[in-house]
Amino acid sequence: MPDYYYQIKARKTSEYDGESEWAFPPAFSGLVTAADRKKAKEIIEEEYGREFPVRVLKKDLDEHHYLLRISEIDPSDEYILRRFRETQCKECGAKFRPIDKYNDPYSDNSGADYCTARCATAGKARDIRDLKLVVEGKVPAVIYQVRQISTGRVYVGQTTQPFTLRWWQHVTYPGESKFHEIIKSTPITDFDFSVIEVIVFPENCTDAVRYITDRERFWIEEKNAVTLGFNTVRPTGISPQQILSLDTI
Ligand SMILES: [Zn+2]
Repeated sequence: MPDYYYQIKARKTSEYDGESEWAFPPAFSGLVTAADRKKAKEIIEEEYGREFPVRVLKKDLDEHHYLLRISEIDPSDEYILRRFRETQCKECGAKFRPIDKYNDPYSDNSGADYCTARCATAGKARDIRDLKLVVEGKVPAVIYQVRQISTGRVYVGQTTQPFTLRWWQHVTYPGESKFHEIIKSTPITDFDFSVIEVIVFPENCTDAVRYITDRERFWIEEKNAVTLGFNTVRPTGISPQQILSLDTI
């Protein structure tokens, strides 16, 4: 049965023109599994003990407090699905579901990597420190692979931390990804860990993060790690906020 992502939007009065509009973020976002959209709507309305309109014309806005948006989730839509999985904060190790933060009006951080704004700030500072050590040549950035010996399937990753630490983190704090599901369900003796490239930045490299990610993408393709292996997604272009020029660190 398909999963449906739903959002309950609440009406508010615009601060600009005093007109009614739907507030952002939504009052609540959730997921239901149902045979079809109609059934999904029934489940949600049952849960809330009331009916919701799924369409409200602008002229009728003042008559409705809430609007329900429902859309079927493409099973490959990691962007939405990861919000519903239990995740480990990259800084403090606390477990959380990104969606719960999203639904919490007091949450100060909506990202999927860190539990709070405090951890996000500390984690990003650490990333910069780690990368600084990499750029100074004190710790090499590496591309590593974890191979399941019995099947030959691999997971490819990058790290700017001491590389054995990354393997330890995968084993000690597995999340809900395809790779972590395998780690949890398979004896550890069935895996080996190896470094497949020590990153050497080219002379003219101005963006260390992008270069490491390019090399990671190369190895994910080379090992066919998404289709045959344990990687879930190919690393895509990184967002502008993450670009760290070698000049500034
Ligand atoms: Zn945290």
